[in-house]
Amino acid sequence: MGKVTGFMEYNRQESPYRDALERIKDWDELYLPVNDEIRLEQAARCMDCGTPFCHSGIIYNGLPSGCPLNNLIPEWNDLLFNGEYEDALSRLLMTNNFPEFTGRVCPAPCEGACTLGITNPQVTIKNNELAIIEMGFLKGWIKPFNPVKRTGKKIAVIGSGPSGLACAEQLNKVGHLVTIYEKDDRPGGLLMYGIPNMKLDKKYVIRRTDLMIQSGITFILNSEVGKDITKDELLSNYDAVVFCIGSSTPRDLNIKNREAKGIYFAVDYLSKNTKSLLDSSHKDNQYISAKDKNVIVIGGGDTGNDCVATALRQGCKSVRQFEIMPEAPDERTTENPWPEFPRYKKTDYGQKEAIALFKEDPRIYQISTKSFEKNSDNQVTALNTVNVEWSKDYDGRFFPREIAGSNKNYQADLVLLAMGFIGPDSELINYFELETDERSNIKATYQKHTTNIDKVFAAGDTRRGQSLIVWAIREGREAAKAVDLSLMGTTYLP
Ligand SMILES: Cc1cc2nc3c(=O)[nH]c(=O)nc-3n(C[C@H](O)[C@H](O)[C@H](O)COP(=O)(O)OP(=O)(O)OC[C@H]3O[C@@H](n4cnc5c(N)ncnc54)[C@H](O)[C@@H]3O)c2cc1C
Ligand code: SF4
Repeated sequence: MGKVTGFMEYNRQESPYRDALERIKDWDELYLPVNDEIRLEQAARCMDCGTPFCHSGIIYNGLPSGCPLNNLIPEWNDLLFNGEYEDALSRLLMTNNFPEFTGRVCPAPCEGACTLGITNPQVTIKNNELAIIEMGFLKGWIKPFNPVKRTGKKIAVIGSGPSGLACAEQLNKVGHLVTIYEKDDRPGGLLMYGIPNMKLDKKYVIRRTDLMIQSGITFILNSEVGKDITKDELLSNYDAVVFCIGSSTPRDLNIKNREAKGIYFAVDYLSKNTKSLLDSSHKDNQYISAKDKNVIVIGGGDTGNDCVATALRQGCKSVRQFEIMPEAPDERTTENPWPEFPRYKKTDYGQKEAIALFKEDPRIYQISTKSFEKNSDNQVTALNTVNVEWSKDYDGRFFPREIAGSNKNYQADLVLLAMGFIGPDSELINYFELETDERSNIKATYQKHTTNIDKVFAAGDTRRGQSLIVWAIREGREAAKAVDLSLMGTTYLP
């Protein structure tokens, strides 16, 4: 455990962010450098609760409670408190291939299940995780891993998001030769071209993929499976193929004037912005600009928040974020007890920045967009909306009911659709004749990961549906284990 009385002596202290009005002037990371002294103190707050829930990774009410990777949190908190960084790192890497990603962008279901959280603010598990891995990089403890012996088995991983990267790293560790095919020009999937740079600096993604290359993993970029590489080529050249292609089909809003100019999917907006930033510091103008525009983001989730933050940095005139659901309560309710994932109102970094700049919360709740308006140039000019209230039907299911007379009109020059994803690329799935489940994801059982096609496996968002990085890493690890077992008859992979 940490310090016996640590949780009584020290208050929770999260790693601070840069000032909101300062950070919106650039694309650098939000976070201030980690203060090691404070992190040791914060690790001391872990109180050896006997039966920790923080590392359980159980699903309660549809959401994860505890770490889906089963990170050995109390163990490495204790080592961190004692300043034993190298041992803490080795514990952390037993379960998590990429703590530098989760330590920055994981929503930390571990903290929602922290026992201290029943009565006090939880342990800063996510910040502590980042401190351990970054110390590992700083001290040069993280090195390429070249297996002593190769098995002679060749595996293709399609997609270089966190599930593909984790799967490849695990398979490489046990001596298989892994090739990752990626259709984009840079590796990382949504780590690279989804999450904005200020939330996850792309230098950390490149630092990791460079290490993987040095460890013997081959990345073939700008290479779209199904177009540049055929099914037959893949199946005949490799002993196993793992689909880690994500869930890339965005949910659309098919209402009047949807075809107007100025309406984009959030992920297209975000990915073009990052690409242009990395290619030319935005000098090439190959991005969708919010400068001097009234921006409306439809979708109140994390992706919508990333759009708000991006629009602010591009110099938008105004920004609003529409959410059809009611505003969450300020704290847990009795229907959402510990250790469930806490469902209370969180004001994320982009929303905080909008409040700091415009003195107003960008979020509008219980609002539904009925139609877009456009001008003679086919450019979107406004949205027509109605407020909704949520009622239960006879089966107890919630549904939105429009409130008569609540119609409004909001001016907009740029509309970003951030309403989630409905599944992976169906063209590719059809081409491979892969079976899908009722949610149009590739059909494969968790921890088996086999599909209807011999030697083809699936993992990550493409199997589980739109999810989180921590789950993608877990799925990649599980798929690697399943592949190794199928090829070798036994496996030592965890
Ligand atoms: C804007 C945004 C922000 C997010 N922020 C967070 C966050 O803060 N925290 C968090 O935990 N989660 C976040 N998520 C969710 C998280 O990014 C995903 O759950 C995770 O990346 C899924 O990993 P994956 O490996 O399954 O798929 P992806 O990351 O989607 O990677 C799939 C890869 O497959 C490639 N590919 C697809 N088809 C082919 C093909 N035919 N040939 C070759 N390559 C192909 C794609 O180009 C892509 O690189 C966010 C998602 C979005 C959209
Ligand atoms: S990966 Fe996420 S859930 Fe697991 S310990 Fe880290 S922050 Fe918590």
